[in-house]
Amino acid sequence: MSTVFSKIIAGEIPADIVYEDELVLAFRDIAPSAPTHILIIPKREIATVNDVSAADEAALGRLFIAAAKIAAEEGIAQDGYRLIVNCNRHGGQEVFHLHMHLVGGRSLGPMLARK
Ligand code: 5GP
Repeated sequence: MSTVFSKIIAGEIPADIVYEDELVLAFRDIAPSAPTHILIIPKREIATVNDVSAADEAALGRLFIAAAKIAAEEGIAQDGYRLIVNCNRHGGQEVFHLHMHLVGGRSLGPMLARK
């Protein structure tokens, strides 16, 4: 089933796009968790990490290439940042179009809350 991210790719709803090429699109998260919070998505709709296949290798590799480029452009590469991909319920995934969060611009603290 199509998600809001497909509508952003199609230009049907607005987004603050920071990078685009033939395989991926990147735009600012609507509810940022840090000064820089960008979502990088493959243009081909893949629901979750569980659904990736060898055919997605180029697009998935491109997510990292785009992340490094965007981090440099945002001026956060040297201080550092975090890349996050959530999967399904325990991962906290809300939008079922695979996406990488690029989060930075402040110290992000420990990777996971200890419970
Ligand atoms: P998830 O929890 O699935 O890993 O992350 C989904 C992210 O998508 C959330 O951080 C949420 O704020 C963001 N998001 C949801 N709907 C929209 C939207 O319509 N536009 C933008 N730019 N971000 C969205």
